[in-house]
Amino acid sequence: MMSTPRVPMSKVTLDHVRPHAEKLWSLIERGEGCWTWRGRTNVRGYGHFHAPAIQAVLAHRAAFMLTKGEIPKGMLVCHACDNPPCCNPEHLWLGTSADNNHDRDAKGRHVRPDRDETKVNRSSGAKQIQAKLSAQDIAEIVADERSGVVLGKIYGVHATTINRARSGRSYKVEITELRKMASPTQRDEGE
Ligand SMILES: [Zn+2]
Repeated sequence: MMSTPRVPMSKVTLDHVRPHAEKLWSLIERGEGCWTWRGRTNVRGYGHFHAPAIQAVLAHRAAFMLTKGEIPKGMLVCHACDNPPCCNPEHLWLGTSADNNHDRDAKGRHVRPDRDETKVNRSSGAKQIQAKLSAQDIAEIVADERSGVVLGKIYGVHATTINRARSGRSYKVEITELRKMASPTQRDEGE
């Protein structure tokens, strides 16, 4: 059906977003305080922006790219305002998954208390997932409620990989590794 392959969510860069900037901003209610996304959202309330050449990109990430530049590989765009649909660049900060979790914990917001993140699984399965998905991908997948089959197509992996990434088994390992990588200065950017 689709003759031209569209850029999957994990591969979207500033160059992909820039031609669609006008459409993106038309879906964002800008003003004082939070800039609310008026387009489609996932169940967590994060904006999903779609354009002909892009399968999907999180709206706040797209807004960040357009105003502050490219997002370094593996980095998350976090909300200082804790408001998922907000796309105000002044409310967004770059962090690692570890930063984001620390921030979430500090705010007393445990998104998935039912997830078993206590198990550190270093099995080959977890390593396979990390080979196929970046920390950013996994964070987005965890925040996205669409089916494993749908997300598998977007990220170009099997549905089983999506479901494993979601289960937290590989996520925990990823977080541990990112925490090791994170330098203390990164934390300061969002404060
Ligand atoms: Zn905001």
